[in-house]
Amino acid sequence: MRHDASSPPSDSRAAIRALTYADEAELARRLVAGARLDPAARAAIVAEAAALVVRVRERASPTVMEAFLAEYGLSTDEGVGLMCLAEALLRVPDARTIDELIADKIEPSNWGAHLGRSSSSLVNAATWGLMLTGRVLDDDPGRPAAALRRVLRRMGEPVVRTAVGQAMKLMGRQFVLGETITGAMERARTLEADGYTYSYDMLGEAARTHGDAERYAAAYAAAIAAIATRATGDPRTSPGVSVKLSALHPRYEWSHRDEVMAELTPRALDLARAAARANIGLNIDAEEADRLDLSLDVIEALLADPSLAGWDGFGVVVQAYGRRAGATIDALHDLATRLDRRIMVRLVKGAYWDSEIKAAQERGLPGFPVYTRKPITDVSYIANARKLLDMRDRIYPQFATHNAHTVAAVIAMAGGREGYEFQRLHGMGEHLHQIVREEHGTACRIYAPVGAHRDLLAYLVRRLLENGANSSFVNQIVDKDLAPEAIAADPLAAIEALGDDAANPGIAPPARLFAPRANSAGWNVNEPASATPLIEARAAWRDRRWRAAPMLPCPSEGQPPRPVTNPADPADVVGEVAESTDGEVAAALAAARAAFPGWTATAPAERAAALRRAADLYEANAAELTALVTREAGKTLADAIAELREAVDFLRYYADAAEAAAGEGRG
Ligand code: FAD
Repeated sequence: MRHDASSPPSDSRAAIRALTYADEAELARRLVAGARLDPAARAAIVAEAAALVVRVRERASPTVMEAFLAEYGLSTDEGVGLMCLAEALLRVPDARTIDELIADKIEPSNWGAHLGRSSSSLVNAATWGLMLTGRVLDDDPGRPAAALRRVLRRMGEPVVRTAVGQAMKLMGRQFVLGETITGAMERARTLEADGYTYSYDMLGEAARTHGDAERYAAAYAAAIAAIATRATGDPRTSPGVSVKLSALHPRYEWSHRDEVMAELTPRALDLARAAARANIGLNIDAEEADRLDLSLDVIEALLADPSLAGWDGFGVVVQAYGRRAGATIDALHDLATRLDRRIMVRLVKGAYWDSEIKAAQERGLPGFPVYTRKPITDVSYIANARKLLDMRDRIYPQFATHNAHTVAAVIAMAGGREGYEFQRLHGMGEHLHQIVREEHGTACRIYAPVGAHRDLLAYLVRRLLENGANSSFVNQIVDKDLAPEAIAADPLAAIEALGDDAANPGIAPPARLFAPRANSAGWNVNEPASATPLIEARAAWRDRRWRAAPMLPCPSEGQPPRPVTNPADPADVVGEVAESTDGEVAAALAAARAAFPGWTATAPAERAAALRRAADLYEANAAELTALVTREAGKTLADAIAELREAVDFLRYYADAAEAAAGEGRG
């Protein structure tokens, strides 16, 4: 693993990095100011959004998926069970495991409570099926008719398996436009005739091997060739393609920046050139937060390529939930200006929120790269939409959202229908965007996944997670108990009410994940804002030669020292070690035995304090210790960090455990 910490970042990159974990309250204040909406404008947006909600509800029943998400949100056990099932089912290869998975996820749930409640007859039918399945699988011998149920269960398993598999595929079909690009383009014709445009996404997630990456690149190239046949001569009105850089390289990580620049960038450039020749849009999707910095390197390299001059179809996605969104847009505008290019920027809220929160907590990072409250993301979207609308000299803004308030805010700020477009996902937000097009004449593009159902899962799970949450707009609009005004409430007012309490108290900051015990501090080796200070501090230990020898309370020499070399680089002499002599081992054991009564008699709090002090010292000396294990054992930086954190966590955990045991009279 190589880390490039030697070349200092550009000013705009330094500005982006500085915001990675910036204070949420301060950022929220800046976002409210950046939205530049006075009270009258805010009230008008809420009224327009509430009216949109009413019209969407009047127009037609929600799609099967929307009805499903409303009935089985993440706040119900059944919903969570189904999401787990959807995530795993289509990947399980054997029937027995499928049956066990279904039994595990479906049996314990209370399906009867959902019966007949949904506005969609399909969802109600599915509930019937799930309820019967739950009953069939319920094998409690203490209940009546258990024997009959057991017989049914034996007969029924293949039936249940097929039914649940079909239900999951049905859900998948809601979100996939076609299994092949030509099939998808055929299906797109109906809405294209009505004035919609499309951006096709080839399903399949991060490449695991170079073979995967080559297959994905070929699929994108074939899609571009097919889409080119429908080009209009202007990327804004032509169908386009959305590309995930993670599909183009198995190590699309900052820690492998050199390989990425040498191997991924040419692959992406080939695709961009093909899109430029056809004069259609090619858009780089935004992925996890720790891909942002590296993605900007790739984007800059692509955009600077002279062969792409004069093509206005290059697109970038910015995630409003990220604390760096505004600085990223500034940098993109600067780049386009410097290179004399026009680009497209799709603004989204961001699809990886749950995993960003979890990853930051688990890794013990200094903070979250995303906001922790939904209204802050909503206002970030509005403030950054304002920024993009002000940058139309270089940027064609593409507003991807299904939220009526967000849509109403964009329309109010844009002051017309020209120079930007809305975007929605296939299978979602259909009525909202249709109404907006009819009433405002705005353009709308549909993001349409293309691919086999077995490749749908990661995409499906992201949709289920973001829409299953009851704070999500799609979830709320289907719930008729919620008044339109409540759904369209002003997120700016919500933030103002928070003041300095912007951080969500329901989400433990990484350092407090195990509170009251401190979590071990960690570093994300793929996030320069996190890793660079450690990488720089480790430089001081690059040539250090350590000397290891016995540590005894009496003079000790050890055996004659022998050199220790780095197993990953034999020329790198790490230092020397003097192994203990037999006599020194005996002396060490005797000294330990002699010290034991004193240690046992030491108050538990004092012993715990010693362990905690050791943990703190490990952390304070992280640069030296990780450099040492890297050079002595050939460990990667990620492994070295994991080893250090394990030690720190153990020390703190056992300090607490010792005190707790002493409190219970066992210490
Ligand atoms: P809303 O219900 O208003 O917002 C839901 C969103 O709010 C969540 O997804 C999350 O981002 C945010 N949120 C929820 N809870 C919290 C919280 N507690 N704190 C802070 N924020 C919170 N996403 C990508 O990441 N990359 C892409 O390239 C991408 N491309 C897209 C293309 C299109 C055309 C569309 C429509 C969407 C795309 N998305 C992409 C997905 C997009 O991020 C989600 O659809 C979007 O987040 C849902 O936002 P909304 O305004 O429709 O719904």
